[in-house]
Amino acid sequence: MDNIYIYVVSLGCDKNRIDTEHMLGILAGSNAAVVESPEEADVIIVNTCGFIDDAKRESIDVILEMAQYKQSGTPALIVTGCLAQRYAKELSEELPEVDAFLGVSAYSKLLDAIRSVLDGKRYVCCDRLDGDMEGRVLTTPSHMAYVRIADGCSNSCSYCAIPRIRGPLKSRPMPSVLQEIKDLRAGGVSEVILVAQDTTRYGEDLGARQLTRLIDEAAKIMGDGWVRVMYCYPEGITEELVDVMLKHDNVCRYLDIPMQHFSDAILKRMNRRHTQKQSVALAKSLHEKGFVLRTSLIVGFPGETQEDFDILLGSIKQIRFERLGVFRYSPEEGTAAAKMKNQIDEDIKQARYEKVMAVQAGISHELGRSLIGHTMRVMADGRDETGVITGRTMGQAPSVDGVTVISTKKDLTPGTFHDVLMTKANEYDLWGELQ
Ligand code: SF4
Repeated sequence: MDNIYIYVVSLGCDKNRIDTEHMLGILAGSNAAVVESPEEADVIIVNTCGFIDDAKRESIDVILEMAQYKQSGTPALIVTGCLAQRYAKELSEELPEVDAFLGVSAYSKLLDAIRSVLDGKRYVCCDRLDGDMEGRVLTTPSHMAYVRIADGCSNSCSYCAIPRIRGPLKSRPMPSVLQEIKDLRAGGVSEVILVAQDTTRYGEDLGARQLTRLIDEAAKIMGDGWVRVMYCYPEGITEELVDVMLKHDNVCRYLDIPMQHFSDAILKRMNRRHTQKQSVALAKSLHEKGFVLRTSLIVGFPGETQEDFDILLGSIKQIRFERLGVFRYSPEEGTAAAKMKNQIDEDIKQARYEKVMAVQAGISHELGRSLIGHTMRVMADGRDETGVITGRTMGQAPSVDGVTVISTKKDLTPGTFHDVLMTKANEYDLWGELQ
């Protein structure tokens, strides 16, 4: 594909980012050149998210924006990812300006799709084809990388469309994951972030859950580099898992545990396998072991009463998560929850969303201030757009959490580790002096 110029837009979560990186790997192998702006492109690829309404709306807006660059048919426009997987049929009728649709596990057909659209033929493939993909071009800063350990999900949370989009749990064989971590480490990566829809079920479809062993092996490979784990289902966090994380100094004392709600009545309707009592006990024991906790919650779930919401609010005041994200419930067609009675008014959802954000801002600020005067290990990430040097502690995951602004005259190489004395905090970020 000599002299073919491709512009790629990547939307959605870090798992979608990995898909984009695999597509860039395929393009790199084909001699197609990736360009920095849509004006220069022969082909534009939009890798979409189709998780909830807001994300779908953003994806459509970007597709329409990219379609504006089409003058007499070029550049060709290819839509990939979750929105394509979920709505290829509807979108190919509603969006004639899109030349091809590729589903979430049909990236091996990318070059066929490009050849087809350059010949002026439409192309659609949303079959579940791809096995364990190799070769990616990182889009993260070169000192850190996401590592997908499994795709799909076999939990059936009543509000979630992901199992319909990405299919059931499909774990990557451990040798392949470990080889990727070895290659990344050899390539200078100082932090690997293990991701999946539910990392705690990793390996179950291969015979037995293997996250504990994977973390143990990954920690050995990474040396003084960090291993971080995201998206842990509460019920899957076992003593063995916690022990192996505590065994290695380079495994981040950080857990991202989407709890979604704390009212047992709502958790039951969400088809979640944990209770308020279990969640509070789990968070308490992890905090006592020095873990920083992130969670995500949904407000406005069908049938959520003021009492349910008060239980949620009371629980976050009791647990005091360091990091918390909250979503307004979005009815996703095809999910059980979308058919439930007592859908909540958008204003009530908005009010509850704002209430949670306000309470959490206070908690995060207090917890941030409690770190002032402490010297902490920080991995440098480099200079941000304002020119200041930033980094992250083990308690700060990339993209979703705040950063640590490091005051120093030195230039710190991204991916190097430093001791920083914390001097200031707000509800998101920390400030400190290099020691
Ligand atoms: S665990 Fe996450 S991805 Fe899986 S069904 Fe539940 S919400 Fe969706």
